Amino acid sequence: MLMGLCGGICAGKSSIASYLTQEHQFKRIHLARTSATPAVEKSASVPFPQQPPAGRDHTFADVDALLEFVTLRWRERWVTTDIWDDHVVDALLRRPFFLLVSVDAPVSVRWRRFSDRCAASQLTPPSLEDFVLRNDAYLFAPGTGLAALFQRAQLKLLNSTTSLDSLYAALKSIDLASEARLRPTWDQYFMRLADLAAHRSNCMKRRVGCVVVREKRVISTGYNGTPRGMTNCNEGGCPRCNNLSSGGVGLSTCLCLHAEENALLEAGRDRIGERSILYCNTCPCLTCSVKITQVGISEVVYNQSYMVDTKTAAIFAESGVRLRQFSPPGEGLIDLALGASPGPISDSEDMNKVEDVREIFDNSNFIRPLS
Ligand SMILES: [Zn+2]
Ligand SMILES: [Zn+2]
Ligand SMILES: [Zn+2]
Repeated sequence: MLMGLCGGICAGKSSIASYLTQEHQFKRIHLARTSATPAVEKSASVPFPQQPPAGRDHTFADVDALLEFVTLRWRERWVTTDIWDDHVVDALLRRPFFLLVSVDAPVSVRWRRFSDRCAASQLTPPSLEDFVLRNDAYLFAPGTGLAALFQRAQLKLLNSTTSLDSLYAALKSIDLASEARLRPTWDQYFMRLADLAAHRSNCMKRRVGCVVVREKRVISTGYNGTPRGMTNCNEGGCPRCNNLSSGGVGLSTCLCLHAEENALLEAGRDRIGERSILYCNTCPCLTCSVKITQVGISEVVYNQSYMVDTKTAAIFAESGVRLRQFSPPGEGLIDLALGASPGPISDSEDMNKVEDVREIFDNSNFIRPLS
């Protein structure tokens, strides 16, 4: 696999890359800066031309050359922090072995890290204000800012950890090196389709989506809402759903079809047959569960609980329908400071190499050697 790490100044990209090389046999791979690289990045490299090509075995002039190299070796583990622009991300994300991971941290935390590094290399740290301005240029400069690029990451990490130990523990706890994120399992795949169907829901009470699958093929999909030809629920079609009664109250006056009902009606009993599985983002209600039983679904997989789970479970248990909860791994931002065992806190800990300070900030008027 190839993992690309992107993120703000001192967010922890290099530290995470070091974790992967030290703990999980990843190898670093490098990509030359492109013409679209932000001015911040480019100016940063100029004052220190003596900086290492040393130890940079795997350095490529462009993303195509890098991809050519990795394609032949994709079963090995590679990591790069050289995510320069959209073109690079476009090219990498096309490949099934690539995972883009973004890492961020509060700006005050990143400034503190940066200041510590400056101090460690006998340089005067920038003021917080200077750091914020440089950070804004890095992230939001028109045409070259990297902020939009980070949003494309498949995994987003929030790294406000305060030591390498706690960072490493957190990365271990989320199993960062896992290849499972490259390609969804069947359960993840079908649950994601159910979630997508739910986005078409027009019911004012709750978005529910459902997929009926047989032998790993989708037979039908459904979402909840008023029947065809009628005004959509969210346009006033169902008076019950549009009043303020709480969930589950007045169900007998509701005009909305449930996602499961729509999927079952769409598929029909004949096409459902044996060994069909129903994926639903919410545990089926009582009336749906008897219909699911009647058409011969063999297994129901749901994500979120609903208020009648135990009654539904009893019906399925009696009729021999397997019921299983599957909650896909969380998406969105993962806060590394939560849940990981806290390591020893050390402000002076070198969370990155001294060179990185210079790589990002040139020393003109900005970081001055301590006099
Ligand atoms: Zn409704
Ligand atoms: Zn309704
Ligand atoms: Zn239902």
